[in-house]
Amino acid sequence: MGLLDKLETIATTRETLLPKGINPFNVVIEEIHSATEGTIDGHRVVLAGTNNYLGLTFHPSCIEAARETLLKEGTGTTGSRMANGTFSGHSALEKELALFYGCSSAIVFSTGFVTNLGAISSLAGPGDVIVMDADSHASIYDACRMSGAEMIRFRHNNMVDLEKKLSRLGPKCKNTLIIVEGIYSMLGDCAPLAEITALKKKYGAWLMVDEAHSMGVLGEHGRGLAEAVGVEQDIDFTVGTFSKSLGAVGGYCVSNHPELDLLRYVCRSYVFTASPSPATISSVREALRVINSQPQLRTKLWENVEQLYRGLEHSGFELGPDPSPIVAIRVPSKEKALLAWKAILEKGIYVNLVFPPAAPAGLFLLRCSISAAHTSEQIEYILKTFADLKPMMTDAV
Ligand code: PMP
Repeated sequence: MGLLDKLETIATTRETLLPKGINPFNVVIEEIHSATEGTIDGHRVVLAGTNNYLGLTFHPSCIEAARETLLKEGTGTTGSRMANGTFSGHSALEKELALFYGCSSAIVFSTGFVTNLGAISSLAGPGDVIVMDADSHASIYDACRMSGAEMIRFRHNNMVDLEKKLSRLGPKCKNTLIIVEGIYSMLGDCAPLAEITALKKKYGAWLMVDEAHSMGVLGEHGRGLAEAVGVEQDIDFTVGTFSKSLGAVGGYCVSNHPELDLLRYVCRSYVFTASPSPATISSVREALRVINSQPQLRTKLWENVEQLYRGLEHSGFELGPDPSPIVAIRVPSKEKALLAWKAILEKGIYVNLVFPPAAPAGLFLLRCSISAAHTSEQIEYILKTFADLKPMMTDAV
């Protein structure tokens, strides 16, 4: 088989997967009007498939902070944190993130994906064990493979299975890193973090929580699921991204273990990639201040979540188990999911279509993500559209 022949296989799979004229995986948003509105195919649509949970991409003070820095410091760092790409903003943001989490150390990375790649593959190596939730994000899977550690999956959120796997490891638990997420990105459900921390302590393992979708969303101060559940002191490493509630791009790892700082010297995804642009860092610093000072954004987000989740539930849709800013509607087949996704877009609403393997357990999902910036009228419109199109999304037709 030639080098490019395998791409032919991908082309064939794509042909069978996607009927002519529908490609939900290559949508171009031609214009962005606000955190919740854009133009797709020449039509103005409500954006209900972003991860812009607090709507901060258009927050005036975040834009102003980025603009000022752009003018002062230019468009990019053109270098890696280690060699030539640490600006004063990167260091200031690390101090602010550490303060935000009440932790001693923080490291800023270029994306959430490379945060996981770097942090996980540097913390765990050959001879160590990673015990991870089976529904973990691709970056966690890739990091585990890169690490060379033994990789053990437990069934999604299944504490009996987690305990079984930990108890089998016995004394190896002291070399074991458990990895879970705060809010899971497909069904919007939360990890049972109180039980996980209890097991981690019982067996003497280490715990990393990826709060990518829960930072800014959960907890009185927006620190995520660990704050909401009251177990922050039991988390060894928290990782997260700037690309959701913080409205930008980049990632971070925070910890109370002073050794975290040493990762800078061994994380290849920190050492060998360019650091986030100075304007990005300034907007994130401002977004962190907004999260700290405007808890009303979180209140509004949860009002919107309730409106959407309860409304869809009332219409009889099969949803993820818990209300969260990720509201996933299960559709019985790939064909129905594709046609429904297209019909929803034609009605002026952009949501995400998720197929296996990205969606867990062979599910076909129409995934909405809701923002504090959505108006209740926009959510009403989403609810009405889904209710009108419901026959397309159920077994009945
Ligand atoms: N972790 C989780 C749980 C995610 O869902 C994502 C992105 N969807 C990432 C990490 C990667 O974040 P980024 O987009 O910043 O690379």
